[in-house]
Amino acid sequence: MAHTQDPVIIVGGGIAGLACARRLNGRGVKVQVLEATGRVGGRIKTDRKDGYLLDRGFQVLQTAYPEARRVMDYQRLDLRHFAPGAMVRIRGRFYALADPLRRPGALLDTLAAPIGSIMDRLRLLRLARRVTRGPLDGLFRQPESTAMQFLRAEGFSDTMIRRFFTPFFGGVCLDPQIQASSRVLQYVLRMFARGEAALPAGGMQQIPLQIAADLSMACLRSGVRVRQARKDGVTLDDGTVMPARAVVVATEAPAADKLLGYPHPGRSVAETCLYFSCDQADWHQSFLMLNGEGRGPINNIAFPSRVSSEYAPAGKSLASVVVLGNPDGGDVALTDRVRAQLVDWFGPQAGNWDHLETYRITHALPDQSPPTKNPTCPDPRVRPGVFVCGEHGSLPGIQWALVSGRLAADAVLARLGY
Ligand SMILES: Cc1cc2nc3c(=O)[nH]c(=O)nc-3n(C[C@H](O)[C@H](O)[C@H](O)COP(=O)(O)OP(=O)(O)OC[C@H]3O[C@@H](n4cnc5c(N)ncnc54)[C@H](O)[C@@H]3O)c2cc1C
Repeated sequence: MAHTQDPVIIVGGGIAGLACARRLNGRGVKVQVLEATGRVGGRIKTDRKDGYLLDRGFQVLQTAYPEARRVMDYQRLDLRHFAPGAMVRIRGRFYALADPLRRPGALLDTLAAPIGSIMDRLRLLRLARRVTRGPLDGLFRQPESTAMQFLRAEGFSDTMIRRFFTPFFGGVCLDPQIQASSRVLQYVLRMFARGEAALPAGGMQQIPLQIAADLSMACLRSGVRVRQARKDGVTLDDGTVMPARAVVVATEAPAADKLLGYPHPGRSVAETCLYFSCDQADWHQSFLMLNGEGRGPINNIAFPSRVSSEYAPAGKSLASVVVLGNPDGGDVALTDRVRAQLVDWFGPQAGNWDHLETYRITHALPDQSPPTKNPTCPDPRVRPGVFVCGEHGSLPGIQWALVSGRLAADAVLARLGY
């Protein structure tokens, strides 16, 4: 039996759970976040190794995320921006594909890039203009197909799809066949067109740390795994029962499925991220670099230390290499294959880059193929007293995790009569 002095328990200390906790706490509701791992942040964590900052999987904050703009203090995050556009590897060299308005100096290279016809470029401009117009939730009410079907219907050539959209959108959704929803594609294009891809100077983990900073240490417990969630409390893995006024399940989708007793867990998509260190060089750019050749294990690579110098010690560069999925054959074999491709792309010196770490992230994102839910208005109510936030009834990503946390908090407040 729960009492009014019991806390609202939030299961999971990722940014959805933390956003929910912060909003409830701000309204004077006692909260207790229970996090299974050793620290909060969920999928947004940064490790320190030999003076390098290693984000667990390559991630960026899109400055245009409306909810992040609302609830995060970008200045305190000390955001550093990637160059607008991308470098695409095609037929043995990299071409800069830059937004001509934001980076006029790269116009010639952009026009020379063999990514498709002039008509493809015009279609892309037209599409970018279209997706940036109107309210955001309008995008999630449109008819839905896979991104691949949508791009074909829009008239893009196979070359443009293969050399640009596949590595770009495949890298965002971790989906090499770009079968993710056309709505997600349009949303992603809108975010890229309206803002910049950025990293907090001190690593991605600064994002959850900023949200958690408003909560007292007593509100946050890590190293505590919840086994069962009910409207009047939770049972921990060690059998401890904790009473609660309400329970919010804020875990990633597979764990939420288990806790809520949903029968058919959705499919997860994986990312493998390898980090290498090397000597700093002028050609290490702050562009995202995409594999437009469609062969080899690498989908994209970036030099985060070029974006924020805090990612590497003085004189050194950090390379973040993304391989889609969770390739078989073990880490040593994968590192060898990745290194061979780095040598092919960047020359023999890449053979001497030091391998720092490999992260294999099995549930990086849930599969985002159609049909998808409208993430602007997820319903956080599971049953009286039990709520959910994060990916359930929504979409993955920092924007939607923050929105879902806020809406779950509002539903809890309504139930408690605030
Ligand atoms: C490799 C990768 C790249 C990404 N790239 C981007 C990007 O560029 N831009 C972007 O916007 N988003 C990106 N994302 C997605 C983004 O990181 C996530 O959508 C977001 O962090 C999800 O937050 P969450 O709080 O919903 O879930 P999570 O961060 O997964 O948090 C859930 C928490 O619940 C805990 N938990 C699970 N089970 C239990 C239990 N039984 N008891 C207690 N605690 C439990 C987990 O340990 C975890 O800490 C990326 C994600 C990954 C992994």
